[in-house]
Amino acid sequence: MPGAGVNAPLEFTSTYIADGPVNYARVGNPTWSAFEEALGGLEGGDALVFSSGMAAVSAALSLVPLGGAVVVPSHAYNGTTSLLDQLAATGAAVVRRVDPTDQDAVRTALDGAALLWIESPTNPMLEVSDIPALVAMARECGALTVCDNTFATPLVQQPLADGVDVVLHSVTKYLSGHSDVILGALVTPSTDAGRELHARLSTARLLGGAIAGPMETWLALRGLRTLHVRLERATGNARELAARLEGHPAVTRTRYPGFGAIIAIEVEGGPDAAERVATATTLWTHATSLGGVESQIERRRRYPAEPETVPEALLRLSVGIEDVEDLWRDLDRALTGR
Ligand SMILES: *Cc1c(COP(=O)(O)O)cnc(C)c1O
Repeated sequence: MPGAGVNAPLEFTSTYIADGPVNYARVGNPTWSAFEEALGGLEGGDALVFSSGMAAVSAALSLVPLGGAVVVPSHAYNGTTSLLDQLAATGAAVVRRVDPTDQDAVRTALDGAALLWIESPTNPMLEVSDIPALVAMARECGALTVCDNTFATPLVQQPLADGVDVVLHSVTKYLSGHSDVILGALVTPSTDAGRELHARLSTARLLGGAIAGPMETWLALRGLRTLHVRLERATGNARELAARLEGHPAVTRTRYPGFGAIIAIEVEGGPDAAERVATATTLWTHATSLGGVESQIERRRRYPAEPETVPEALLRLSVGIEDVEDLWRDLDRALTGR
């Protein structure tokens, strides 16, 4: 429209003048709609923004009937597994942990299950699932599927196209991309069944109250505009660094799925040596989280909630968009203790 701003409106209001389409801002906000339209377009469905990735996880788990069984990767994001443990402790859900790459184990675990939780690649072990195969198994058992697509982003994989029922994002990570907001989202397919799920999840947001702030949503929308450029650069950097790390004498194992910008390495000398590397870098930020323009490094087992099957000396590297030679110099120096 001539004269209109080129950006979506940032609307701060708690309520609206009566008799319009939305009557109160816990129901909707124009800034949410702009973000949801953009993310829905990328994932090929209808999006709902939440106040955090975990708020989106909570809403997605509200689809599980009381006492229902949830099949989840052993190395899923530890906030997700901790929440599932809490639900299990009160009898609200039954939790079955599996290696998602072991399809026989998944098939067995799915017997009578209400929900299959997919996270691919997993955090931080970077296991990659065959999403269409898992969806087919879940369908056979009548289980819903949720796919946490935070690591891959819709530019790498679009799980709705593989038949997944609900896609989840910690928008905090790649989608906003600048380490300045906490936000989450769910996306459902634009089918009759998808629209029904969308309505249930929208009600979970409305009544659970975990709604996104307009400012955070606006920042996420701004970040989303450069997702493809950031991810292309970060992925190029990650490919190069993963190849060099493979041959590094201080690195005993490199995990890189071949796409995306997260690498996991194990270093010589155990957890203390790994901590020393994480704190010795200067360009890489020693911090939790990932998906920002700046590179981040962290030893995941510093968290008691991290499963014991994650190696003690594993460092998760979230590769940013800096100059790859600068990143390598800093990492190599930290690894060799120079
Ligand atoms: C960070 C993260 C979450 C949780 O999101 P928040 O925005 O921190 O609440 C969920 N899943 C994955 C894979 C994550 O990395």
